[in-house]
Amino acid sequence: MEYAPASHTTVSRRLGRFPSGRDVSVTVHRYEGGVGPTVFVQAAQHGIELNGPAALRRLHRRLVDADIAGTVVVVPVVNPIAFDHRSYLTPEAYDAFNANFNRIWPGDADGSLQERLVANVWPLVERADAAVDLHTGMPEMLEHVRFRESDPEARALAAAFGTADVLVNEDPIDPESDGDADEFAGKFREAAARAGVPAITAELSNSRTVSREAAQSGADGVWNVLRECDVLGDPPESTPEQRLLRDDVPRVVAQTSGLFELRDDLVIGAEVTDGEDIGAVYDPSSFEQLETIEATGDGVIFSVARGRVVVTGERLASIASVA
Ligand SMILES: [Zn+2]
Repeated sequence: MEYAPASHTTVSRRLGRFPSGRDVSVTVHRYEGGVGPTVFVQAAQHGIELNGPAALRRLHRRLVDADIAGTVVVVPVVNPIAFDHRSYLTPEAYDAFNANFNRIWPGDADGSLQERLVANVWPLVERADAAVDLHTGMPEMLEHVRFRESDPEARALAAAFGTADVLVNEDPIDPESDGDADEFAGKFREAAARAGVPAITAELSNSRTVSREAAQSGADGVWNVLRECDVLGDPPESTPEQRLLRDDVPRVVAQTSGLFELRDDLVIGAEVTDGEDIGAVYDPSSFEQLETIEATGDGVIFSVARGRVVVTGERLASIASVA
């Protein structure tokens, strides 16, 4: 590695065209130093996930003054259409078939609008030696990083990112298959893995708002990944208490509609055992308890239904086993 002061440039990259003739374009930051690897970082595939761009602004302030080896390519708002509409998905008016930006990687130059946008980002990803995709989850979800179990390089990136919890990819796919049959095959992380680029997905906390803690955690996480990749000269900070989790516990599903309350003494991240009472569904009008909810396996309460209003058959909570 050869470390040199980072030189920073930005370009506007045209991804497509609106019906009015305006360009759909994204801002791409490049930080270049001495000889070394290339790391690609993106955020805001989903338009309400604001802590990714907020994290990358914090990262920027540190990177412009750093000595680095290699190149860091950063796209803070990779899906500007959803972002400008303050919407998780891209509005149907633009692409009714592929509303979720994170299900269509690596895109299709002859496909729908969104598939074409993604296809025009993809060359930046393919050329990278590692990739980080920043997302944010619901407030009631553990901050974590996801990676593909069969990829030791991705696992090292996930560990380096440094959140207290890392989650093994719940949807490993056959590397020999083209992935068409797999609904998750179009996730960024999976497409990158198929192209030989180790990739992680960071799920920071708190979508729809900028949380200082989440943004700082994202900036620190990417900084540690750059250390792990030797783009920065010092080793990543270790997270000795990091838990490795597996998304393999059956879903906790509501058998009745109502308002779900977690047991008073439980918090997100608490460990529970199979069959333990973890809460109840109440009728919000009559106050009657309709259903007692039990843990579906041993593990950690990973997330709880958004707003906790639940409809019969809907997921109430996710439990991840501790590996
Ligand atoms: Zn997301």
